[in-house]
Amino acid sequence: MPAKSPRSKSQARELLFGDLWEFDPAPESAPAFIDDRYRLFIDGKHSAPRSKKYFDSISPRDGKKLAEIPVANAADVDAAYQAAAKAFKSWSKLPGAERGKYLFRIARLLQDRSREFAVAETLDGGKPIKESRDFDLPMAAAHFFYHAGWADKLDYVAPGRRLNPLGVIGQVIPWNFPLLMLAWKIAPALATGNTVVLKPAETTSITALKFATLLEQAGLPPGVVNIVTGAGETGAAVVNHPLAAKIAFTGSTEVGKIIQRSLAGTGKKLTLELGGKAANIVFDDAPLDQAVEGIINGIFFNQGHVCCAGSRLLVQEGIETEIIARLKRRLATLRTGDPLDKNTDIGAINSAEQLGRIRELVQSGIDEGAEIHQSSCQLPKQGFYHAPTLFTGVAQSHRIAREEIFGPVLSIMSFRTPEEAIEKANNTCYGLSAGVWTDKGSKILMMASRLKAGVVWANTYNKFDPSSPFGGYKESGFGREGGKHGLLDYASLAPLDITR
Ligand code: NAP
Ligand code: MG
Repeated sequence: MPAKSPRSKSQARELLFGDLWEFDPAPESAPAFIDDRYRLFIDGKHSAPRSKKYFDSISPRDGKKLAEIPVANAADVDAAYQAAAKAFKSWSKLPGAERGKYLFRIARLLQDRSREFAVAETLDGGKPIKESRDFDLPMAAAHFFYHAGWADKLDYVAPGRRLNPLGVIGQVIPWNFPLLMLAWKIAPALATGNTVVLKPAETTSITALKFATLLEQAGLPPGVVNIVTGAGETGAAVVNHPLAAKIAFTGSTEVGKIIQRSLAGTGKKLTLELGGKAANIVFDDAPLDQAVEGIINGIFFNQGHVCCAGSRLLVQEGIETEIIARLKRRLATLRTGDPLDKNTDIGAINSAEQLGRIRELVQSGIDEGAEIHQSSCQLPKQGFYHAPTLFTGVAQSHRIAREEIFGPVLSIMSFRTPEEAIEKANNTCYGLSAGVWTDKGSKILMMASRLKAGVVWANTYNKFDPSSPFGGYKESGFGREGGKHGLLDYASLAPLDITR
């Protein structure tokens, strides 16, 4: 018998499933109740757009049309602001406990309708149903619950000071977590007594428009939340409207810069949650099994359409070969395909345009000399899909090490000392998040204090909680969402009147 090639200890202990085993299809079958054609939600009414124009929302799952979405023009956006300004007069004077009741109701209705919303989110955006079901929906409800709890306790946010609402808030959100980003924006704004004009992203407007029906169910007074859909032009009209007291934007650094320039000198408050290129740093004393799972989750969660994705892996030299071997084996077990299938790990890329961007950057990695590894998974023939991808031999100067890919692509680099890891991790224009994997608590604290990132996860990745503020440094933006810090970004501070 020929001698077997030696296997490492870790290989001997590993079970491999993935495509080695046949999985029966497990399609989610609950109805999403998607309308053929939607209307804008202004002043508590569903109204046809003054532009008389609509565009198609496409499902990235199969490239087919799902619904027609209205295009809000400047007149529609103005109507939304007028309604929000009118509603602000009474909403801002409502006792906090009363505002809290509405927020609790919204949270509970999201739980009641979570299956329907999860299916709609997956159909419209392409994320795996297990993620929309187990992450996006529970987290969106959690944000409303958390802020409902704050609504009558605002006097305790800043000792000795009172939080006053700002007025009408203009909010523009991206397509990667459509309903969750809506919750991050609307819940704190309403809890602090503001009213809202919100624009979802062009490719993922459906759950925001369904949310309008949920607000009706909750009996929210007309005009407190207005939802206007459309592309970048509608976003610009929301941002530049004179009635906006504050703009809250989540999206690309490029558009964030345009907004910051256009708001300069207007006196409007601004928070920007922008892009990222996070370093996930693995030391040679790290628990390797957990680290490999954390690396996989860090980059492949939501197809890598995550602003805080751990897209730059920095591995300490002594374990580089071992980690790469384990990652390749783990890659082979990821199931890529129909996002509506409950076994799917990696779903569809959000749009044809985004798929083109990912492919272009992947090609640049090959052209610049990095080595590509992809799993041999079968991708569906229709729809927009990209195989999970690893790059080794990456130099810091490569585009795939510097630019946000926003897709399932990991760039792997190595380091020798903690100093070198810190230098490499901070060598980016972004500063949103980072990960550290090590057995030593002191190393975690040292790294966390020296990494220039808004969030540093230790021996875990992509952990979120409404009570934990999230936001960036440098070109990842400013302002925080979640926690007390997030509330402060929706209010002005005044001395607390203790005689009240
Ligand atoms: P994007 O192109 O900047 O779009 C974000 C939103 O802005 C969309 O609703 C978009 O509308 C709108 N918009 C486009 N041009 C505008 C303009 N001139 N004025 C006002 N609004 C305008 O970003 P994206 O491609 O949707 O999202 C991906 C980016 O978001 C990534 O860079 C990611 O890192 C970032 N992101 C950051 C966070 C965070 O918390 N830091 C969270 C999620 C995503 P249309 O889409 O309809 O054109
Ligand atoms: Mg879509």
